[in-house]
Amino acid sequence: MIDATPLSPAADAAVTTAADAAVTTTFAELGLPAPVVTALAAKGITVPSPIQSMAIGDALAGRNVLGRAQTGSGKTLAFGLPMLTRLAELGDTPAAKRPRALVLVPTRELAFQVVDSLQTYAAPLRLSVRPAVGGTPFGRQADQLRRGVDVLVATPGRLGDHLRQGTCLLDDVCITALDEADQMADMGFLPEVREILGLTAANGQRMLFSATLDREVQSLVRRFLPDHVQHSTGDSKAAVESMEHYILNVGRGQKDIVLSEIAARQGGRTIMFARTKLGCEGITDRLRAVGIHAESLHGGKAQNQRTRVLDRFKNGRTPVLVATDVAARGIHVDGIDLVVHVDPPADHKDYMHRAGRTARAGAAGTVVAIALPNQRRIIGRLTGQAGVKVTEVNVAPGSAELGAITGAQKPSGEPVREAPRRERPAGAPRRGGNEGGGYRGRSSEGSGYRGRSSEGGGYRGQGGPRREGAPRRDAAPRRDTGTHGGGFRSRASHASTD
Ligand code: AMP
Repeated sequence: MIDATPLSPAADAAVTTAADAAVTTTFAELGLPAPVVTALAAKGITVPSPIQSMAIGDALAGRNVLGRAQTGSGKTLAFGLPMLTRLAELGDTPAAKRPRALVLVPTRELAFQVVDSLQTYAAPLRLSVRPAVGGTPFGRQADQLRRGVDVLVATPGRLGDHLRQGTCLLDDVCITALDEADQMADMGFLPEVREILGLTAANGQRMLFSATLDREVQSLVRRFLPDHVQHSTGDSKAAVESMEHYILNVGRGQKDIVLSEIAARQGGRTIMFARTKLGCEGITDRLRAVGIHAESLHGGKAQNQRTRVLDRFKNGRTPVLVATDVAARGIHVDGIDLVVHVDPPADHKDYMHRAGRTARAGAAGTVVAIALPNQRRIIGRLTGQAGVKVTEVNVAPGSAELGAITGAQKPSGEPVREAPRRERPAGAPRRGGNEGGGYRGRSSEGSGYRGRSSEGGGYRGQGGPRREGAPRRDAAPRRDTGTHGGGFRSRASHASTD
């Protein structure tokens, strides 16, 4: 089926949508080798998601692929498995400093998750996958690169540092994947991305995945994927069909109590969004004071702290994470079943980015926006622009509606002691969550994936400058940039500032 409104800038590009993927295939039928299929099955991943059904065959054939798919759609494996398979088939070993394939991602956290995810399938193929991101020792990455890396998963800033220092060279890169290209554009990374892509072999394979195809992303596509096939899981609305959205109207003076009751709910992961670092810290402190093991995640924290906070959230030790929009861009954790907009998002794109932390991989999720009387109009407008169906409910501390929607209950009131935390011992039970990769799909969908393709509206951002008005308080640390002393071809003598 050809999309009625092709989004691809290349007029001759073939376009398929999720509807085309309705016929269930297996990973083996898509052409993946037995060791990969076995490793997938060991993870409980047996049914390809729509984007995987659509893209894997073309990617294995070495074609350039433009994938329009959101986080949670299974896109990492859609580009990652063919990348690994092709590298294994080529049979080379990497030369010192010269990775054979490159995955560019916008954030450090996403880089680590892509590495984690791909290592499972790289190991049986005897391939190496390594990260190159800021906030972690440059020298260790340089050592790894010198020893030879098959797949380098990098943020543009740190990779730029390696290129300038001469610790990484891209002339052997034969496959490049750009993940979350729209976020890279939003974060102002495209100049670096263009330079980096320009250093990879012009006749190499390129894959670009993005939730939206804004003007800036299209310019990348025109330049670097002139000849490509396009696959689309439909609009971002598809991702939100399994979400329920509520505006919770609260009275003045009741917000903190309502938040603490929501945070005290049992068994699931909750993420709360605040606009600023200070806001995050304040909410976290107030929650901890009444007995809730909340932690905050924002750009003011060092990378190793952020990683530990995120690990504790993933393994269930911390049930409530309080994050800024920026920090949360890197959060790709399954099993978040409640998203709380504590402060209203800056715009409808942020509403959707926040909401997108839940209902991943077809699971269900609830998104609630806390609205003080003076915030109701703006939140109503944002949800309208986001194109979501929202239910507005008046709630109060202890109210039945609050309990029914969020599972709220009274917190213990016993302050959380600020003792140094130890990690969860290996083998200790996890709380809640959906650790295994199972798409909780409706069987009627055929593919085992719950999202449906849908056309029209939703969250197509405009690209361009990130924000009019209120600047982001934590804007600086979000960009994983390093030093920028000129082009990547020249070797600089200075050390990385990261
Ligand atoms: P992604 O969109 O790449 O961030 O993937 C979202 C989540 O879905 C990850 O936890 C994957 O392990 C999981 N996943 C990817 N593909 C499948 C699949 N075909 N079946 C079940 N889970 C999957």
